[in-house]
Amino acid sequence: MSKRIEFKKSTKLKIAARSGYRCAFLNCDRATAGPGATADEPSITGEAAHIWSAAEGGPRGQGGLTESDLCRPQNGIWLCRTHAKMVDEKRGAHFPAALLMSYRDLHEARIAREQQGIARRMAWLDRVTVARSAVFEPLAQMTLAKVTLVIGGNASGRTALCEWISAFERPELLERWRIGKRFSPLRIELKLFDPAEQSIGLGIDAERRIYFEVNDVGVAYNPFPFRPIWLRDDRFNPMPDNDDDWIASSLGIDSYVVGNVLKEVSEDSDAFTKNPRIEVDDEGHRRIRAHNRDALDLPLRVFSTGERGRLLVDVAIALARTSSRFVPTILLLDGFITSFDSENLRTVAARLASAENQFQSVLFRVAHRDEDALHLLSPAWQMVHLRGRETNVKIEVEGLTSGIARSS
Ligand SMILES: [Zn+2]
Repeated sequence: MSKRIEFKKSTKLKIAARSGYRCAFLNCDRATAGPGATADEPSITGEAAHIWSAAEGGPRGQGGLTESDLCRPQNGIWLCRTHAKMVDEKRGAHFPAALLMSYRDLHEARIAREQQGIARRMAWLDRVTVARSAVFEPLAQMTLAKVTLVIGGNASGRTALCEWISAFERPELLERWRIGKRFSPLRIELKLFDPAEQSIGLGIDAERRIYFEVNDVGVAYNPFPFRPIWLRDDRFNPMPDNDDDWIASSLGIDSYVVGNVLKEVSEDSDAFTKNPRIEVDDEGHRRIRAHNRDALDLPLRVFSTGERGRLLVDVAIALARTSSRFVPTILLLDGFITSFDSENLRTVAARLASAENQFQSVLFRVAHRDEDALHLLSPAWQMVHLRGRETNVKIEVEGLTSGIARSS
């Protein structure tokens, strides 16, 4: 018989208090503490649910955690009775551990803000639906956690997904889908909570017109405040004369802000790249220099591919961090990240998952033989697989059956 590992009473109190005694399930926020039946008693209706399961063979497995790790507050999420029941029973398998951790972290971040008296709204991108496209099977869907790892081979639609999500802010990215041979009607929908449920859509109709919708009402452009930051795959493009132009084009930003962002990177103690900065050389070209792992001060042009990739990731994180203080932000990391080894990937995922970063991230990776190893190493990310090739790619979210309706 396998035994159930229960939280101690003191642990349950910690989990409840961190949650403000309110349900941490996405968009629930129900109060779970209030007046009791008699004038001198409170009523507590919430429950501390296990993220990794309390019993062997539970809905989410135990993620290779030890008994003492399973009992820690880090493995708990405070839920109202309805959601505790939903997450703990058979349907619990529909809520992977990474998703529950994301909900919990989002809720705790919101509570921390309220506690500081900051009322700024936060939004959460819950789901991307590719209703119609030339790449995916109809109604392909991807649920997003705080950090989502998308694994797909060549021609599995990675770039298309990045382009379409980015097009909500930069519609010019739809151009190659609208003209020429690649044309086919397109419809993308994003479901966000801010905390009310919002749906924003864009598409290309049969007459090749680009259209936008907010909550199913047609609008001229996307007015919803939402910022995608996309680190694209520019590895094979020639290096421009000025190094800051290279960073700017990889991230779709203006060259003149690159120096400012590098300054932020140099102040980030977790950054891979130390002391990056721009210097002007004798010919008037702007050159980036930084310290490598051995503390040697080197020009960007002699960086290895791995070092360049890590610098771009540092810059992307700095951009997303600033943006997410003001608008909901999603960081899409493609390109160099696909060639990161599992150790560097794990470091990046841990940085992205940290509570100080208020944005969501999607990391793209080419299918790889160490997939299983990644799995065990990183319980905090949601894994998504792109199966097959254009024009009928399937999206499979691990732990979620395709197309199920998750009520909230
Ligand atoms: Zn609830």
